[in-house]
Amino acid sequence: MTVATANILIVDDDPTIRLMVRVALSRQGYEVTEADNGRHGVEAFVRRPPDLILLDVTMPEMNGFDVVRAIRAQHEGAWIPILMLTSAEDVRSIDEAFDAGATDFMTKPINLTLLSRRVRYVLGAAERESVLRQARAEQESACRLARLGFWQLHQQSGAMHWSEEAHAVLGWREPLPDHLDHFLTMVDAGQRPEVKNQLELSMNHHEGLELEVRLGEGARQRILRMQGKPSADQDIMVGAFQDVTGLRALENQVLYLVEHDELTNLPKERLFLRLLQEQLDMVSGEDPWMVMVLDIDRLHRINDAFGHAAGDNVLRVFAQRLRQHADPGTLLCRLEADTFGVAMPMSLSHETYLSYLDKPHFISGKAVFVEFSAGAGIYPRDGSNAAELLGLARQAQRKARLGSGTKLAFHQQGRLENKAMGILLETDLRLAQDKDEFFMVFQPQQELSSSRIVGVEALIRWQHSQRGIISPAEFIPLLEESGRIQHVGDWIIEQACRQAAIWRRQGIYLRMGINLSARQFELEDLADRILACTERHGIPAQCLELEITENIAMHSPEDTIVTLKRLRDMGFNIAIDDFGTGYSSFGYLLRFPLTTLKIDRSFIENITEYRNSRAIIRSLTALSQGLGLKTIAEGVENQRQRDYLDALGINEIQGYLISRPVRADELQRCLALDSAADPDMVIA
Ligand code: C2E
Ligand code: CA
Ligand code: CA
Repeated sequence: MTVATANILIVDDDPTIRLMVRVALSRQGYEVTEADNGRHGVEAFVRRPPDLILLDVTMPEMNGFDVVRAIRAQHEGAWIPILMLTSAEDVRSIDEAFDAGATDFMTKPINLTLLSRRVRYVLGAAERESVLRQARAEQESACRLARLGFWQLHQQSGAMHWSEEAHAVLGWREPLPDHLDHFLTMVDAGQRPEVKNQLELSMNHHEGLELEVRLGEGARQRILRMQGKPSADQDIMVGAFQDVTGLRALENQVLYLVEHDELTNLPKERLFLRLLQEQLDMVSGEDPWMVMVLDIDRLHRINDAFGHAAGDNVLRVFAQRLRQHADPGTLLCRLEADTFGVAMPMSLSHETYLSYLDKPHFISGKAVFVEFSAGAGIYPRDGSNAAELLGLARQAQRKARLGSGTKLAFHQQGRLENKAMGILLETDLRLAQDKDEFFMVFQPQQELSSSRIVGVEALIRWQHSQRGIISPAEFIPLLEESGRIQHVGDWIIEQACRQAAIWRRQGIYLRMGINLSARQFELEDLADRILACTERHGIPAQCLELEITENIAMHSPEDTIVTLKRLRDMGFNIAIDDFGTGYSSFGYLLRFPLTTLKIDRSFIENITEYRNSRAIIRSLTALSQGLGLKTIAEGVENQRQRDYLDALGINEIQGYLISRPVRADELQRCLALDSAADPDMVIA
């Protein structure tokens, strides 16, 4: 409705007044309908709700007050402006008009000039109100969708107020706490002192507040993330809250799926390593532990002869025996398809334990003996941490499989070999940068909705004079250990920005992904360095996507978050890399200012075979979308994987299906080919 073409209904039993009003308002461009009594007025409204009603009070059949009430009771009539025409300045009838729900009134006899002006005003106000109402409705529904609400706390009185949508967000019917004390009694008892303390601190020091609070009990308990800020002049603290209960449940589910093997329900390697490390930290060398790797020999022969289901059953039974005969403190896991990990104190007899496993399996009614070989490393004799011990046990197990007759081999001197090898590599690595042996390759990232290449990830390579190209997986850890990653890291950032700038000058606008290692965050000016580099090359911050892994935050979380927030404020994209494989809690990640989540390729690998991998990807994607992040899947190698990820709503993919990481000039050729095939394609 625009004010000028508004449709106005005049309800009056006096034909002269109707005529007068109609002539006057038509001349202003309004469309006027008439009704000669109250009942006809209501009928006319129902036939076609007008934009404004002019309504007489005293009429036959139904008086004006009853007409207002009848119209207000209808859905379409709730907001229509109604201007009542009262006979005199009769205060009582004016009051009654407002009580009935009239918008405004005018007294008779009607001054036509005044009427046009009043009509214009009332219509204008109604329109403004409707815009506001709509905006508010939109905001409310957005809040409900985002599970967002608002709260207020008066510091002096302790009174609390919650926004209207708070109930809908929480799904609660009962009143929300209207006082701080009441609120605190609803907070989970274990959290209460801390929450109280935090609130007081931020009120007294005028500090921002950030809390995650468990409110309510049992099944009705909700987890709220509350953020707040005390206002400087008033004694009020205002803030927003978000219901993250569903998100937390999803995270726990993801965490469980990610950390357990579907077939045997045993923990996977990363959970095993974490639990083992905790255990070793606790005994701290006083109580020797044994870490074993058990590998079933020739499982593929069972698969070939009896089918995969039979092979799976052997694994299940094997896992069941491992579990059944283990002492409560023993740690177990499934490492790979046919490999298991066991860790137990040396005080327990591993011979007895292994003997339980040496029993026949029954396949199609026949007893079949399943051979296995085992290797072991001992803490603290052979190694000091969980990962190292497991590595040694793996090496020893390979030796046991080769040696005839030995079922269990202990680790001997592989550790030295590894160390020696590392030292050789270290020496060469120190010279690599000076000798110009590093170079960068780029792997394209494709947007699924448009099939366009929208970004690349920069990956480093080392061209060793004798050994050829060495994988970053081998030498990055060495650079990290020595701290030289900081220096090499600067070089990588420089190369990536330089290349992005070259491409931009050619009209190729690609987002550039750069991997940052944890130790680079020890540099206090990391954010400024990166910004300076982009400025030097004249590329915008949005052009870079900085990839970090979950373990980055393990070092000094608060400092890391500060740096990340600065980078985010500068406009850089921040991606969490290898998502799902790290050790940090997902809840923790919420505190990172992320823009992007990269699902690790280990989950993509098995996507079409394993239900578990699909469940993980589904949950990770839901989590990512719930957090409003862009999702990239890594390691996509075939079309089936791509189709599945597309169906899930993953935004971008990266992997051999699109291209291996290649040198810049080769990528350019690849892009040129791509756009040649599709003349409409523009590189984003
Ligand atoms: P990442 O960041 O997860 O990098 C992805 C790795 O997956 C790359 O290995 C890439 O070549 C590989 N890849 C990509 N598509 C596929 C696929 O379809 N199938 C398979 N099987 N693999 C695929 P790359 O280049 O060997 O890098 C290994 C790791 O080394 C990287 O893992 C990253 O953690 C680290 N790294 C590489 N370059 C840098 C760097 O410039 N700086 C830092 N700090 N770390 C780097
Ligand atoms: Ca990466
Ligand atoms: Ca990755």
